[in-house]
Amino acid sequence: MKKDIHPEYFEDAVIKCACGSTYKVGSTLKEISVELCSNCHPFYTGKQKIIDTARRVEKFETRLGKKVEKITKKKVKRQKRDELKKEKREEAEKAEA
Ligand SMILES: [Zn+2]
Repeated sequence: MKKDIHPEYFEDAVIKCACGSTYKVGSTLKEISVELCSNCHPFYTGKQKIIDTARRVEKFETRLGKKVEKITKKKVKRQKRDELKKEKREEAEKAEA
């Protein structure tokens, strides 16, 4: 090996996962932190779990909630309009009779 060009190599570097498990590997970093590992990744566990580090799911759900609210407001308006029409029609029929 050429001298003074290689980084320091740690034979017993440790990878720590957010789930709690640790792994020993060789690395130029003494300690590595990861969010997922083969112990907790849904692909390996077979369990469905949403990994939401950027709050994307939460954001989507709030957006979806707003949309639903809008739709229901529209529906309420339409219902009121329909009721008014019905009443007017009934009054007209009464007047005719
Ligand atoms: Zn893990």
